[in-house]
Amino acid sequence: MPPKVDEDLCTGCGRCEEVCPASVFKIVDNISRVENPDECTECGTCVDECPVEAIKLE
Ligand code: SF4
Ligand code: SF4
Repeated sequence: MPPKVDEDLCTGCGRCEEVCPASVFKIVDNISRVENPDECTECGTCVDECPVEAIKLE
């Protein structure tokens, strides 16, 4: 399943956009949006790298 971002926790730091090998995220208005959910390979990197644990793979 593609990632979900908890918008209340996300600080817009951009780390997920940086580390995702499949360009799934895009930061818009200081929040990470899941732009390309179908590209997600469920590698888990974004979950590990988000400093505020705002991302879940469900
Ligand atoms: S790494 Fe976490 S806090 Fe940073 S933009 Fe992504 S979801 Fe938001
Ligand atoms: S699990 Fe991997 S491919 Fe999917 S959004 Fe996170 S970093 Fe990108």
